[in-house]
Amino acid sequence: MTPPPKTSNPVILSAQHLSKFFVSPEGKPFTVLEDISLELREGEIVALLGRSGSGKSTLLRTLLGLIPPSRGEVRYRGQPVTGPMPGMALVFQSFALFPWLTVQQNVELGLEAMGIPAAERRRRALDAIRLIGLDGFESAFPKELSGGMRQRVGFARALVTNPDVLFMDEPFSALDVLTSETLRSELLDLWAEQRIPTKSILIVTHNIEEAALMADRILILSANPGRMRSEIQVPHPRLDNRNHPAFKELVEQIY
Ligand code: ADP
Ligand code: MG
Repeated sequence: MTPPPKTSNPVILSAQHLSKFFVSPEGKPFTVLEDISLELREGEIVALLGRSGSGKSTLLRTLLGLIPPSRGEVRYRGQPVTGPMPGMALVFQSFALFPWLTVQQNVELGLEAMGIPAAERRRRALDAIRLIGLDGFESAFPKELSGGMRQRVGFARALVTNPDVLFMDEPFSALDVLTSETLRSELLDLWAEQRIPTKSILIVTHNIEEAALMADRILILSANPGRMRSEIQVPHPRLDNRNHPAFKELVEQIY
């Protein structure tokens, strides 16, 4: 049975007419994102697809408030986003762990910036480490861990902040197929069982099957400049839609 559409759920995050210009090393301005508008609603997983260089990571960084838009606006629960804010967290493709810090210290980092006292940081970090299946590895250093376990640390560091909105920038693409499928299905279980407080997820991926499997909606960015090209409603959320016509259409649009 197809669940009801989530189009009436409250909007958590929105972008209005977002553009981003950068300046090339030769001093020439160029447009990376042009006039992007989108909405992320409670209960949704949205996948963002597009070729390399289409501006997906730049869009995520702008939505998170890590870089300012050149034009337009981002709103989080109705408030303009003018810098990094609690409530939103990012999982990186390359894990971005500090090699000189232990698993627990890496996870706690996300809370230090928020000014949370040491005892609470420790408690919450241990909870997040347990949740993501890393108990026993609290004192390990990243180099002692496999790629999959390193990305678990990346997830724990994001989840420890109890994010309302979780952004993931190609979180599984550095991992082998089996490891990424395991991690992805564990994450979907945590989400479906509401063991994480996250209300909505935006995932960047190159993997169309992954997008069809995880997302309620798929957004596609065109390249040069990055524009919102199309949006595909996945008819059966979290089911494999490889044989559905929408899936084929999607493949044709991108490649
Ligand atoms: P994607 O994640 O879709 O591969 P990116 O957002 O990483 O794309 O990059 C989009 C374009 O913006 C690329 O041409 C990249 O070189 C450029 N770009 C990204 N960040 C910067 C920056 N800080 N300064 C200049 N150019 C940038
Ligand atoms: Mg990218």
